[in-house]
Amino acid sequence: MQRTLFQDVHEDFRASFRTFLEREVRGEEDRYGDWERAGIVPREVFARAGAGGFLGMAVPERYGGAGADDFRFNLIVGEETQLAGVGGVGLGMTVHNDVCLPYFLRYCTEEQRARWLPGIASGELITAIAMTEPGIGSDLASMVTRARREGDEYVLDGTKTFITNGINADLVIVAAKTDPSERHHGISLLVLERGMEGFTRGRKLEKIGQHAQDTAELSFAAVRVPAENLLGEEGEGFRYLVSNLPQERLSIAGSAVAAAEAALSWTLDYVRERRAFGQPIGSFQSSRFTLAQARTELDIARVFVDRCVEALGADELSAEEAAMAKWWCTELQGRLIDACVQLHGGYGYMQEYPIARAYADARVTRIYGGANEIMKEIIGRSLGL
Ligand SMILES: Cc1cc2nc3c(=O)[nH]c(=O)nc-3n(C[C@H](O)[C@H](O)[C@H](O)COP(=O)(O)OP(=O)(O)OC[C@H]3O[C@@H](n4cnc5c(N)ncnc54)[C@H](O)[C@@H]3O)c2cc1C
Repeated sequence: MQRTLFQDVHEDFRASFRTFLEREVRGEEDRYGDWERAGIVPREVFARAGAGGFLGMAVPERYGGAGADDFRFNLIVGEETQLAGVGGVGLGMTVHNDVCLPYFLRYCTEEQRARWLPGIASGELITAIAMTEPGIGSDLASMVTRARREGDEYVLDGTKTFITNGINADLVIVAAKTDPSERHHGISLLVLERGMEGFTRGRKLEKIGQHAQDTAELSFAAVRVPAENLLGEEGEGFRYLVSNLPQERLSIAGSAVAAAEAALSWTLDYVRERRAFGQPIGSFQSSRFTLAQARTELDIARVFVDRCVEALGADELSAEEAAMAKWWCTELQGRLIDACVQLHGGYGYMQEYPIARAYADARVTRIYGGANEIMKEIIGRSLGL
């Protein structure tokens, strides 16, 4: 179905980002495969993406960005990485652009903006956000990471886990309790910088998919964080997190639809070629029905996501709508890719086929960014239940 979301400027951006992925990520020598085996994307890739204008697009021009506060550019980065089958790179970039950057844009003081925004736009400062702890994920208000104010500093103690860009990150937005007697109102956001004493990174976590993503555990042992690294107001952290979650969830939904689109196109190619009982396997009625359903559901999902992107641009996207997009599109991604693996037969289970990687990469999208059960809670509560 023809999309009406984009203008020429977006299509030009898409074409140049596609070329970037072809040159810098895929390459003839399969660089991405090396990064999957190494469990990390080299830092230089972020710097090259920054130089190409594919990071921090919303950063104002005076800080080295494009001043393009338009989520359609972000969406294109997420979509194209999925279409190219390099989701591990995509997740690192979308966390940087879609999830972390808005906190820096909205809550930084002038001094903080001058300190951090140029590096965020150039890709020399890679960002991460650390909310989840070994003992809590969905129930964020119960976090135990503690930041105690001492004069001009906060003393930070605790552990965060499952942190995307955890090894590469230079700036980590850490959610911590500044007032443990409070739940939501006791949380503040502090920016940790690479090299601060007492800030250590655990090993890269071994996951079933998204291997090129350097997901890690982070530990803080009496890290002395200068008070000028507080983002916004003390005690307002939970409110800030809630206000940015719709964009994060829409980002996950957009990437999920693109990942499913890629899976469908690889599968269509495969079922046209592969033969059984003297005919292409795509010509069996059961294959046609499966793929017809996939095509239909994908087009419907895309229309909803595109509409949500328009609403976000008009500052009208509600938490419930973003939750609907996130849960429904990630469930669709899982269901559709599973059906595509089945159509590949045994080859669908082989690592050398992109559909196998997509299958493993997809599982987590129903869990992170708020588990899908939490999305349904948000929607259910909005019904007055
Ligand atoms: C690869 C990866 C990358 C990640 N990146 C980041 C990151 O960059 N930063 C970050 O902070 N976190 C990150 N996370 C963490 C992620 O957001 C959490 O895993 C997620 O929010 C779920 O929390 P949990 O794992 O503690 O599960 P739990 O909260 O323990 O939930 C376990 C199960 O119980 C269900 N459940 C919990 N509460 C309810 C309820 N009220 N009603 C019904 N069911 C419920 C959940 O839906 C889930 O099915 C990442 C996770 C992964 C795996």
